[in-house]
Amino acid sequence: MTDFQAWWNTVNNDLGNQDLQVEAKDWQFLYWRSKTPAQAVHHIQNYLETKKIADKYDKWDLRFLEQARVISTWSKDPSTKCGAVIINPQNQKVVGVGYNGFPRGMSDAQELYDDREIKYSRVIHCEMNAVLDAGHAAVGATLYTWPFMSCDRCTVHVIQAGIKRCVAPIIPADAYSRWGPTVEKSRRYLKEANVLLDELDLGL
Ligand SMILES: [Zn+2]
Repeated sequence: MTDFQAWWNTVNNDLGNQDLQVEAKDWQFLYWRSKTPAQAVHHIQNYLETKKIADKYDKWDLRFLEQARVISTWSKDPSTKCGAVIINPQNQKVVGVGYNGFPRGMSDAQELYDDREIKYSRVIHCEMNAVLDAGHAAVGATLYTWPFMSCDRCTVHVIQAGIKRCVAPIIPADAYSRWGPTVEKSRRYLKEANVLLDELDLGL
């Protein structure tokens, strides 16, 4: 028995001998990444989860949501970090990006983010920053937001800017208690204005 076979037998046993839909080319990679069978079980479960999502959704939607996620990490907001990407759906080119932060030229000091009252007065949400960045290119464009869809105040501006499709992960249950009411309004407004909305289940 080769090392790989021994490793695989242990892993397969731990995973309950289910019929794993792992492509042959990916087995060696999973083996190489996983020093122990326990790590392999973890990696394989992640792999299957990612693959399920990749099979279910459009490749470009997942790519731009991933880009919005990366951009969200640039925010200095200590509570919620949000990212937005606007693209031209004709050629998949990015025409605007944004994260939640203060305007250019104003102080970006962390203590201003730590005081809620000051923060709310100064902050620009990620979608608004992206729309301002895109300018006229927002007309007919697609907006991607992370970690979930826009608040109602951003949504009305997004509609007015000419965005025709919005894509975001479905709001996670733990965020719903705080953001649910604004998300519900946004869903209604987009429908009313005939803007497409796709909320993707990424298992977040
Ligand atoms: Zn907003």
